Amino acid sequence: MSSSPSRAAARSRGSPPEAGALNWVCCTCAAQFAEGAEPPERCPICEDERQYVGLSGQRWTTMSELARDHRCEVREDAGLLGIGVEPSFAIGQRMLLLETGEGNVLWDMIPLVDEAAVDAVRARGEVRAIAISHPHYYSGMVEWSRALGGVPILLHEADREWIMRPDPTIELWSGERRELFGGATLLRLGGHFAGGTVLHHDETLLTGDIVQVIPDRRFVGFMWSYPNLIPLPAAEVERIAAALEPWHVERIVGAWWERVVERDGNEVVRRSAERYVRALA
Ligand SMILES: [Zn+2]
Ligand SMILES: [Zn+2]
Repeated sequence: MSSSPSRAAARSRGSPPEAGALNWVCCTCAAQFAEGAEPPERCPICEDERQYVGLSGQRWTTMSELARDHRCEVREDAGLLGIGVEPSFAIGQRMLLLETGEGNVLWDMIPLVDEAAVDAVRARGEVRAIAISHPHYYSGMVEWSRALGGVPILLHEADREWIMRPDPTIELWSGERRELFGGATLLRLGGHFAGGTVLHHDETLLTGDIVQVIPDRRFVGFMWSYPNLIPLPAAEVERIAAALEPWHVERIVGAWWERVVERDGNEVVRRSAERYVRALA
């Protein structure tokens, strides 16, 4: 949500690049791009009306530059292993490890990988899939996949235009639902992005910001753009709430540390959608 690239990690277009082609990382959204000797001209994700280019213009870094003054922060959140970036960088989300009895899912993504974080993830068992809610978190996914031995990265095909670093480990899925393993299911809800995805397991829903956990935990939010405060149409919000209705949800776990609805998730979604539609009427 906030943009706080460190000065040391930031590089403006035009400053001398390190030797060789690099996978540049946008300082505002943390998307990682295909290799280039020079930073890209622009970041399409930030130029889209759902994001923004920072006040000081388009800036770039790389994962190795970022690693000089940032590290992975590993701790439990909502009973799951969480990994964020410390100090906070770009949108500031953390990712989560969903453990099922039949293998684990790394949910959402951060722009940094380090050994301690990889060890912590590996210690919990095999990661069989990486899944990401929407393009604002298409950051260090290829690096994480490689660090874990070439784990497939599951992205919804409706958001393929936002993949800035194509890679053979990326597997596009289509339709409204994708069964994984161990009772975990990806649900395409759309809304914030056409391919907007949540991950359901047992009584838990991991939502990124497709269903936004807000400071008042009795409600959640649904928006087209959070930083630019652009609402979704009422019919879209009604559709999203209806799509979640058949799935038993107690806990809703959002994209940032401690953004968790602990119980009555179905009721929270229902009352939030009603409030939203009332406000637009
Ligand atoms: Zn960007
Ligand atoms: Zn977003």
